[in-house]
Amino acid sequence: MSRKTLFVTGGAGFIGSALIRRLIELSDYHIVNIDKLTYAGNLESLLSVADNAHYHFEQADICDAETMAALFTQYQPTAIMHLAAESHVDRSIDGPADFVQTNLVGTYVLLEAARQYWKTLDKDAAAQFRFHHISTDEVYGTLGETGLFEETTPYQPNSPYSATKAGSDHLVRAWHHTYGLPVVMTNCSNNYGPYQFPEKLIPLIINNALVGKPLPVYGKGDNIRDWLYVDDHADALQLVLEQGKLGESYNIGGFNEHTNLDVVHRVCDILDELLPESEHCPHRDLITFVTDRPGHDQRYAIDASKIERELGWKPKETFASGLRKTVEWYINNREWNERVMDGSYQQERLGLGEQA
Ligand code: NAD
Repeated sequence: MSRKTLFVTGGAGFIGSALIRRLIELSDYHIVNIDKLTYAGNLESLLSVADNAHYHFEQADICDAETMAALFTQYQPTAIMHLAAESHVDRSIDGPADFVQTNLVGTYVLLEAARQYWKTLDKDAAAQFRFHHISTDEVYGTLGETGLFEETTPYQPNSPYSATKAGSDHLVRAWHHTYGLPVVMTNCSNNYGPYQFPEKLIPLIINNALVGKPLPVYGKGDNIRDWLYVDDHADALQLVLEQGKLGESYNIGGFNEHTNLDVVHRVCDILDELLPESEHCPHRDLITFVTDRPGHDQRYAIDASKIERELGWKPKETFASGLRKTVEWYINNREWNERVMDGSYQQERLGLGEQA
């Protein structure tokens, strides 16, 4: 039997690349990675699958309607997992335009391309087709000291990033209710793990600590996030794609709430433990409190009981085990990070190679 073709948008990003590495290893899909390769797209995160016969890369912008329609016609996918997005809150505050364009317009373009293609499928293929939209818990806004985000929690996004993700969630829901497009949706808490772009908290702290730079912490460091190891997210995504109920959304999280300062302390402690004596320094001394992000949400926490109850998903990593794996990965893969920091990962994909 021939393999099912699966589109993954944003597959050169942090979560998309983890998802593709896992699907290539553990599933029978033929994967087409559709990615524009913005600053966040890094093909060096996919070197382990690049030569696999069941992996294919298409450099394309999801906002380009003609190209998206052509890709659907060319590959005839059974499903699409849509992860492509502008994803960094601080960047959305400095320049929201790209977020509106990719997260809202791009999702609309993909929905329309998927719908037009889906209408051409025979009855069985149309019933099997899935549009899986990958989103964030940030759409729910912020929590006080108690409570958890449930699938029924009203949306109250506070940043340009979360507002555009909330809007894209609504578009996906509407394409299901209005046109019958078979969709599933997921909203996940903060991810961490290998290959994350070093602008996000955990890789930023690890990488700064490795070179003795200050470890910036917003405000008093008391904002709370709920952390999930990226491979656990990838497993949950595959489960929802294959077994999620049509038109439903699933919250994904690890029941792992920590203040930002606690996360930074934990990273420092693991570094102090793992690094050779020659690289020892009291890493906690590098912590520097910086002016808080405007409109910084105080607390996110996911109630993941629906996906546990209905689909049997549970994270495999604890925060301690996942964080240790992550710190070890950054210690052992400094070259990946150096190539991100000096921009050479972008030269390679432009075909400039050694000229960089
Ligand atoms: P990322 O920023 O690491 O990767 C995004 C990818 O999308 C990059 O490869 C980029 O090149 C690509 N992309 C951006 N604009 C594009 C466009 N117009 N056309 C095609 N490709 C484009 O993001 P991530 O952290 O891997 O997040 C992936 C998805 O998961 C996003 O939708 C995000 O909202 C969601 N999410 C992320 C987290 C998290 O903690 N990182 C948590 C929950 C949900």
